[in-house]
This record gives sequence, C-alpha cells and structure tokens, in this order.
Amino acid sequence: MIYLDYAANCPVDEEVLNCFYNTTKKYYANPNSIHYLGQEVKRIIDDATKNIANSLNILPEEVIYTSGATEANNLAIKGIAKRYKSIGKHIIVSTLEHTSVIASCSSLQEEGFDIDVLPVDQNGYIDIDALKKMLRNDTILVSICSVDSELGVRQPIEQIAKLLKTYPNVHFHSDATHAIGKVNIDYTNVDLITISPHKFYGLTGIGLLIKKKNTDVRPIINGGRSTTVYRSGTPEVGNICAASFALEKAIKEQETHFQYVKRIYTTVVEKLQEYPNIHINNVDASIPFTLNISINGIKSNDFVKLLEENDIIVSAKTSCCPIDSPSKLVYALTKDKKLAATAIRISFSHLTTDDEIEKFLDLFDKCIKEVEHDEKNIRTTSRN
Ligand code: PMP
Repeated sequence: MIYLDYAANCPVDEEVLNCFYNTTKKYYANPNSIHYLGQEVKRIIDDATKNIANSLNILPEEVIYTSGATEANNLAIKGIAKRYKSIGKHIIVSTLEHTSVIASCSSLQEEGFDIDVLPVDQNGYIDIDALKKMLRNDTILVSICSVDSELGVRQPIEQIAKLLKTYPNVHFHSDATHAIGKVNIDYTNVDLITISPHKFYGLTGIGLLIKKKNTDVRPIINGGRSTTVYRSGTPEVGNICAASFALEKAIKEQETHFQYVKRIYTTVVEKLQEYPNIHINNVDASIPFTLNISINGIKSNDFVKLLEENDIIVSAKTSCCPIDSPSKLVYALTKDKKLAATAIRISFSHLTTDDEIEKFLDLFDKCIKEVEHDEKNIRTTSRN
C-alpha cells in the first residue's frame, strides 16, 4: 500500500507515541487536585506548555488546549464574536477556509452576524484589495488560513497581519493546521492561531488555539478548572506532552523535510505534466506537501477508488467536506466546474520513499490508461 494522504492524517511518530504512553501511564492524578500527585502532573503540563511557547516564540499563558483544530477554530471565531459583539458583528473569512471555520460563521450568521467571504486571485492569494474594501467600522474578526488544505497555498500572512494591525477593532485569526512543521510564518501580528498536532505526526484528540495576550475570547465550553479559563475540562497530560514533543520535533526537522518533499513533488509534477488530460491545479505559492490535479472527464471519487484498488491511497479533497461535492477550493481558484469535479489531492511526507514514488507513477499510468480505454469503449459503443 502506498499512502499519499498525509494532509488528511499522518501516522503518529514512534517517539511521540512513546511520550504519550509513558506520560499517561506514569502521571494519572488529576492536575487540578491539590495533593502532591496532582501538583506533580500540573508541573509536567506546565513544562510541556513552556516548551510549546518556546517552540512558537509566544508566552505559555497564550496556549489554550482544545480537542482538535475544529474546536480551536470554533473557539477563535465564536469566542471573538461573543466577546466583541458590542463593538461589531461583521466577520470576514477567506474562501479557502476549512468547514470548521465556515460552519462556525454560518452558525453566527443565524445569530445576526454579518459574514463576508474573501475571494482569491489567479495566484491563489487572498485578494488584499478586496479585503481593504470589505473592512468596516464594525468588523471584529478576519480569518484567513496560513496554508489551505487542498491547494496548499501559503498566504502572505505577515503582510495581511501588518495591514490588520492598523484596524484596532479587528482581530486576526489564522488556521495554521497545514503550515506547522512545513513552512516558516511569522505570527507576531496574528492574534489567534489554530494548530492541529495530528497533521505533524502527533496524535488526534488534541488541538491548540494560541490566543495572544491582548486578545480576549468568551469560552464556548464551560465547566470546571483547566489550564486556562478559556476551555474547561481536565487537562490531558499525555496528549499535551505528546503535542509539545511533536511540535518541537516538527519545527526542528522542518527544513530537512521541506527540501525532501520538494524533490518528490517536483519529480511527480514533471511526470504528470506529460499527460495531456491532466491539469495541475497547484500555483507557484503552493507548498510541495500537497499536489492537486484534475483528470479531464474522470470524476474525482471514481479515480480515487480506482487508485485504491491499486493500493494507492489519496483523497479527492479535504476529508471533512461532503463526499460527493466538487472541490470548493479548486473552484475558488480556477472558477472551472469541471476542474473542481475532477480534482484529486495527493499529499506527501518525509516518510514517502523514492521506491513508493516510482511505484505510484507506474500504477497511476496503468489507471489512467484503464480509464482512457474504458472511455474509448463507451464512445465506440454509443456510436454503434
Ligand atoms: N483546519 C484545516 C485546514 C484542516 O484541514 C482540518 C482537518 N482536516 C481541520 C481544521 C480540523 O482539524 P481537526 O481534525 O484537528 O479537528
């Protein structure tokens, strides 16, 4: 089996898993308990949080633990909306956002918030002129992902953040799910950042929302004490330590992984460009971890299934979208319904071997020939 769906989920790193296992086994007391066992767990969590803060160059009190990036996005968007609704009810999001951002906004829309969606230009970048025109006195939040989940476009986050700093009522949130461990982004002027450890070889079941100290949010999950007042629930020491370790490792190895994956990406793109019926949807600003292609006349899911029958695992689009819908992101970039309906996401890792790529290209060729042959037969039969 050749796994090329790392953008959906990564296998957990062995050392990260050991860290989770050993910590969970050893530290079972509740960190909210005042006895020495509980306080020992609290110290372990505090150390892991400091390590996260060091890795990201932020303060430990700026780290909020959640159940995943979905919850972190919900907390960022609904938390800002509820906290600052007396100032304004206008929110701007980009068209490349994940469903957890879009759905959070839709639920706020039902409560009377006004949501505007920012388009992207032909280079895949969000349209900064459109953003300037959309900003209003009652705008309280702008949410733009650092790197999107299907085309892998690295947005000019630093430039957008600098612009938004000149609007004192506006908070800037960026979903960094596909950026951490892949590209360097300076988040100095970003108020809220979403992080998902399972996208960098950590575990599912934990997410991080980084909330800078000058920004406030209303909690969306209420209850007892936790590591912060912004999200209740007993802190999970094993998952927090594993996330901290995975983050440190991902950042340390980022450049090596990037160069490795870039080489693989280039090899695959050069080969796939030779097929006249394949369109590469990526743009120059796409990072090499995600390759998005459309195959003329072949519906995304049909080709994904055919590849699966040949032991190749890829996705049609981000796994959180409705199964049979066309790719919203490919459509946002290309404005082409056919490309959107035939898009496939192939995502790479430093774990992808040259041997796997060679086999993938051979099997891909076999699958393409198979569908072309079937197409030809259908055309001949319908003519007869
Ligand atoms: N944001 C983006 C861009 C994603 O791709 C995903 C997961 N596919 C999420 C958020 C949600 O992440 P999680 O699984 O950690 O809830």
